[in-house]
Amino acid sequence: MKFCILLLVSLLVMGSTLAQTTPPKRPLPIIDVHVHAMKVNPSFSLEMCPWFLRDMPGGDPNQQMRAFLNTECVDPLQPAKSDAEMEAAVLATMERLNMTIVAYGDPTILRRWKKAAPNRVIPGIGISSPNEMTVKAFTDSLSSGFYQVMGEVAPQYQGLSPSDPSLDGYFAAAEKLNIPVGIHMGTGGNGMANLTQIKYRASLGRPFLLEDMLAKHPKLKIWVMHAGYPMIDEMIALMGSNAYVYVDLAGFIWSYPQAEIHAYLKRLVQAGFGKRILYGTDFMMWPKLFETSISVIENADYLSFDQKRDILFNNAVRFFRLDASKFN
Ligand SMILES: [Zn+2]
Repeated sequence: MKFCILLLVSLLVMGSTLAQTTPPKRPLPIIDVHVHAMKVNPSFSLEMCPWFLRDMPGGDPNQQMRAFLNTECVDPLQPAKSDAEMEAAVLATMERLNMTIVAYGDPTILRRWKKAAPNRVIPGIGISSPNEMTVKAFTDSLSSGFYQVMGEVAPQYQGLSPSDPSLDGYFAAAEKLNIPVGIHMGTGGNGMANLTQIKYRASLGRPFLLEDMLAKHPKLKIWVMHAGYPMIDEMIALMGSNAYVYVDLAGFIWSYPQAEIHAYLKRLVQAGFGKRILYGTDFMMWPKLFETSISVIENADYLSFDQKRDILFNNAVRFFRLDASKFN
């Protein structure tokens, strides 16, 4: 009898547990505004330990420089080994994390991703120097309807200021077509740009260099990629004087030491710009980088739940003029 009661009780408990089982809830939506759609390059496929720039010892012109991507951690992030593996991993991650991406790079790869996940990919096209494409060709591409964003624009790597007159026609096209622009400013070269990016100049990443260009294009909406790291004072002053300037956190949130990342992000929020910070990764080849980067925001104990949601989603909806009701 006792056994029967026990059996009955356990059956009831099991029944109620089963009745309560509902399908797993989708995570809250996330928008990553800085994704590179790249062809896999086997000679550039490297493992990577996040926050690897904790040590930039420099070197000597007479000595071999060490590789900047160190792999001295327990579980380095693995690169995708083929275009097919990359695409499958990116698509699966977007589904799992309920994530939409703003992506730019190789046009073939970008079109493949867009076709496979039309509601999760917002395509962009960048230009960093007038040698890459004429203003006419660029304007035609922007007008095609496929691209919704101009980015990544990285004149700093070409030794150019974003206010260089040679880039003016491209920004004018984006302004006229009401297309938001992402411009690389600040961080680059991983402590050895003089060896790997010879046209790069740290001084050309100064956020103030955007001022003349913005004055010439008063309706242009831009986001400063990498938040102009490490020039926080100029970044804050620029946002304080330009209502249409936002920033993204790409790149530096997984490469620099975490204390440095949090100090920079905290300063932006504390200066009053919590509604103008966009979440982004600078994804190139490591599928697990998405989760690694999200964890930095999730672990920021100085941010409220609402501030995290703004950074991960709401601010991008506003900046890119998206319809929030289409995301769930
Ligand atoms: Zn960049």
